[in-house]
Amino acid sequence: MSQAGGVTRVMAGLRPSGDLHLGNYLGALRNMVELQERYACFFEIADWHMLTTGYEDTAGLRRAVEDMLLAWLGAGIDPERAVVFVQSDVPEHAELALLLGMVTPLSWLERVPTYKEQLRELAGREIATYGFLGYPVLQTADILAYRAEGVPVGRDQLPHLEIAREIARRFNHLYGPVFPEPQAMLTESPVVPGTDGRKMSKSYGNTLPLDAPTEEIRGRIRTMVTDPRKVRRHDPGHPEVCPVFALHQALADAGAVAEIEAGCRSGELGCVDCKARLTGEVEAVLEPMRERRSRVREADVRDILAAGAGQARAEARETLEETREAMRLWRS
Ligand code: SF4
Repeated sequence: MSQAGGVTRVMAGLRPSGDLHLGNYLGALRNMVELQERYACFFEIADWHMLTTGYEDTAGLRRAVEDMLLAWLGAGIDPERAVVFVQSDVPEHAELALLLGMVTPLSWLERVPTYKEQLRELAGREIATYGFLGYPVLQTADILAYRAEGVPVGRDQLPHLEIAREIARRFNHLYGPVFPEPQAMLTESPVVPGTDGRKMSKSYGNTLPLDAPTEEIRGRIRTMVTDPRKVRRHDPGHPEVCPVFALHQALADAGAVAEIEAGCRSGELGCVDCKARLTGEVEAVLEPMRERRSRVREADVRDILAAGAGQARAEARETLEETREAMRLWRS
């Protein structure tokens, strides 16, 4: 296994929000598939994190966990290579979060930019809870439980990782070295617009779902917005304002992107053909996913998650033992 920057273990967690789409694949899953080839990876379906903002309605939570695992398997995450588990299946995270919470100053949590931002954004929901404020501590426990040195993050999550580093440092300073300070493995996600040109997001209803059949994908791409100034087929277009082009950039190789750009600008390429070509590129990603998913049986989902939880628990328990020992907690 190759190692980069002293990183041998990597931890990544995603909330089981359901209905994964191409943006999720390009922004996170594709990277996770690559990471499992190079590092010892722990991939967590973070269902407790869903509770921090969605505790009032948990009716679809189990289904969302299953869907997430299917999407992961479809994308190529391999439970033989990475430890794949559900957060709530590993209660050691909760004890570790409790212990880490003891050394975490409140001011560190209150200054996390997403805290105030989300309080504002989700103003209609009652999320000013203890669980929501403490969510970065739980996230820290998720990482430190596996003593992961590397965490793949987007730029927007850097403040959370900084807290994890600070908590690890503070703990080590108080009780002796137990935890590595996790490093950010910055993932430069491509811009993935949805069919209406805004960011691809389930809440905007503008996605290309990973589990959609070919016909649906074709239909959604056919109705995508394009450069409004390219009205007729041979009108010169402006690819820089066109979401179809942005998706080509995310999916096609550099040569193909240059060709599409030139064709659009000169007017040689029409939007109908351009979209047909995009459908082909999207299908080249989704078809192998459908194929892999179709091979997964219902019983496999349970087996994979049970096995993953067993491995994760063994690792987390060891860390917890050392943590308790370092803190000189009572042992009977
Ligand atoms: S030709 Fe393609 S890139 Fe150009 S405006 Fe039409 S859809 Fe967009």
